[in-house]
Amino acid sequence: MIKKVAVIGGGISGLTVGCGLRKNGISVDLYERSASIMEFGAGITLSKNATSLLVELDLMNDISSVAYFPMKSFVRNFVSVREISSVEFDKSFVTLDRRDLIRILAHRFELSGGKLILDTEVNLVNSLTAEIAFKDQSKKYDLVLICDGIKSALRNKIFDNLQPEFTGYVAWRGMVEASKLPNFQGSDKVNIYYGPGSHFVHYPTGKEDLINFVAIENKSQWHEESWKTEGIKTDLLSKFENWNEGLLYMMASTDKLYKWGIFQREQPKKLIKDRVVLLGDAAHPMVPFLGQGACMAIEDAFALAEVLKGTNDLNLSLERYNSLRLRRNKFIQKRSMLQASFNHVSNPVMATLRNLAVKAFLKKSVQSLHSYDLKKKLTFQ
Ligand SMILES: Cc1cc2nc3c(=O)[nH]c(=O)nc-3n(C[C@H](O)[C@H](O)[C@H](O)COP(=O)(O)OP(=O)(O)OC[C@H]3O[C@@H](n4cnc5c(N)ncnc54)[C@H](O)[C@@H]3O)c2cc1C
Repeated sequence: MIKKVAVIGGGISGLTVGCGLRKNGISVDLYERSASIMEFGAGITLSKNATSLLVELDLMNDISSVAYFPMKSFVRNFVSVREISSVEFDKSFVTLDRRDLIRILAHRFELSGGKLILDTEVNLVNSLTAEIAFKDQSKKYDLVLICDGIKSALRNKIFDNLQPEFTGYVAWRGMVEASKLPNFQGSDKVNIYYGPGSHFVHYPTGKEDLINFVAIENKSQWHEESWKTEGIKTDLLSKFENWNEGLLYMMASTDKLYKWGIFQREQPKKLIKDRVVLLGDAAHPMVPFLGQGACMAIEDAFALAEVLKGTNDLNLSLERYNSLRLRRNKFIQKRSMLQASFNHVSNPVMATLRNLAVKAFLKKSVQSLHSYDLKKKLTFQ
């Protein structure tokens, strides 16, 4: 029986798996290198494949109390904002502020008896003995979960030498008040605009009337030292100068603008090594064009907590986790990357064909993405 688990990293994957394990009565120490559990102010979308699992973890009531239910998503032309296609959602699709999601997960983790150890960077993990080292100390567990995000250094020490690679996309993110929304019907839903070599997304977050926007452009290189830097508004506006005026006004209205180089790292051949498991962005960081990175982290977390529930055969349970998650994550990682080329078509003839495809297949494609039922897979595996 597994009794004591160490989780390294207090992001969405670490906190969710912590909540799942505590629900199953397993003792959990979660190590986070920052002095507090925190996130930057930005929006996040969560779709049914993830929110249905948060329901099982009894987290969805708290999340719903701070979330927004957009109920519909539009794909539009970047100049005329004319609708190309749209798809309706039910209340299982939510948008919210990332800070609220993290706060709720951390609160639940601690309330359920999880131990949050802040300001503690784990430097070393022994995969054979499940021993971890930090601040000149070491501690032994039954299992160690690596949830240290896209730049995971621990992954390199245990699994492979692959490094995150720049994907050729840069994202600009800002938050504005709802009064800055463009003035047309449906602008308070999820809206996605396809332009040449770029696309733009905005949606309400449900927090203080704030709208989150993300503008994505093709870029051959990323020179900044940090992956996330403060962006210059005039740079953003000049990149999108031919876009709809209402959208430019939105972009110009943000107080703070951040700029991200989008990186990706291939998933390792296996997500387990002896007594160590990889989850979330540490295993499979992906481009955010389907809004699935955090959703995959939640799926990983739920799957692992379920296979470990009452297990008498740890090796078998870990193999189950590996086979359940490896293919699924790889598929979504690839599909997210394909979506970028689809969104950014520049040739006008190809763009017309792309729009016809969006008209015909948007509903089906969104449904196939969001209807993945991990609980069913766990039952029949
Ligand atoms: C522009 C953009 C938009 C996105 N939008 C969406 C969206 O709408 N929907 C969606 O599903 N996904 C989205 N994502 C993806 C999503 O943000 C990530 O997949 C998710 O946050 C990954 O969570 P994580 O817990 O695996 O990693 P992280 O959030 O990176 O957490 C890792 C944690 O580990 C800690 N840590 C690191 N090293 C150590 C160590 N040695 N010891 C202790 N602690 C350590 C870090 O401080 C950090 O707190 C988006 C991503 C981007 C870039």
